[in-house]
Amino acid sequence: MSKARVATIWLDGCSGCHMSFLDMDEALLDIAEKIDLVYSPYVDIKEFPSDVDVTLVEGAVSSREDLEKIQKVRENSNLVIAFGDCAVTGNVPAMRNSFPLESVFERAYKENVTVQETVPTETVPELFEKVRPVHEVINVDLHMQGCPPPAETIKYALTEILEGRTPELTDKTRFGK
Ligand code: SF4
Repeated sequence: MSKARVATIWLDGCSGCHMSFLDMDEALLDIAEKIDLVYSPYVDIKEFPSDVDVTLVEGAVSSREDLEKIQKVRENSNLVIAFGDCAVTGNVPAMRNSFPLESVFERAYKENVTVQETVPTETVPELFEKVRPVHEVINVDLHMQGCPPPAETIKYALTEILEGRTPELTDKTRFGK
């Protein structure tokens, strides 16, 4: 049987969801036998590939770069999972939504620094005025709450998907857990 082509991607998040994925420990070995990890921060692949079976998306959509990435993910993935509360609701990155972008830049690059108080104009992706959860910009097939989702839940969901079933996450995740 051919292996499932699985990807993970990191938008505006803290990497905690990806860390929780690694917390599956020895279960990773079972999963590794059933998948090809075709794109992920865990591997050194530069371009998001085509024909991906399952993509887990950590983080919210905060910038044009995030939007372009997630649109490419949607075009090339059969199943897209919003992976963690930032992807599901905006969560931590969306805390800036109550403030104008200008004051966010002031806070990050001037008020909270002691040297080089400068708002960068190059190399920083163009930020949107508002951070949005993934389902507001593309269709999402499955939401996996948690900050981060527990390793046990990730294992359960992936195992079910790899067995061709739809995971029932209602009593296995909750926001903030
Ligand atoms: S959901 Fe929590 S752990 Fe995951 S990226 Fe967001 S803040 Fe980090």
